[in-house]
Amino acid sequence: MGRKAIAIIMDCVFCKIADGTIPSKKVYEDDKMLAFYDIEPAAPVHIVMIPKEHIASVDALSEENSDVIAHIFSKASEIARTVGLKNGYRITTNCGPDGGQTVFHIHFHLMGGKTLGKMA
Ligand code: 5GP
Ligand code: ZN
Repeated sequence: MGRKAIAIIMDCVFCKIADGTIPSKKVYEDDKMLAFYDIEPAAPVHIVMIPKEHIASVDALSEENSDVIAHIFSKASEIARTVGLKNGYRITTNCGPDGGQTVFHIHFHLMGGKTLGKMA
């Protein structure tokens, strides 16, 4: 890994949450992923699901690094149940500036707790 890539990861809020440097309210964790409450919820229940490995966004996914995405989705319904989402939920990911991405470590918003409106 190059120095630039290492510098990006050292600055990455979600890498710091994954390694415990920044505390979070965790709802699920295993060796590959972490799910925690969003600090600025956009819905009554708003969880963020991340791989522990730093992947910048959907744009950075490939055949080599994408198994963890299936893993995250395989745990989503269990996580939704854990936080009491019994009537459905929405999973979204923002990619790049036009997609509204603010943290450049791929993540999936798991939101619910009310009937959500139409998408953008
Ligand atoms: P994005 O805008 O990139 O799709 O989503 C980033 C999300 O991360 C936002 O919903 C924001 O509130 C959340 N977030 C940013 N920093 C922190 C933090 O330090 N802790 C937690 N729990 N959530 C964060
Ligand atoms: Zn990261």
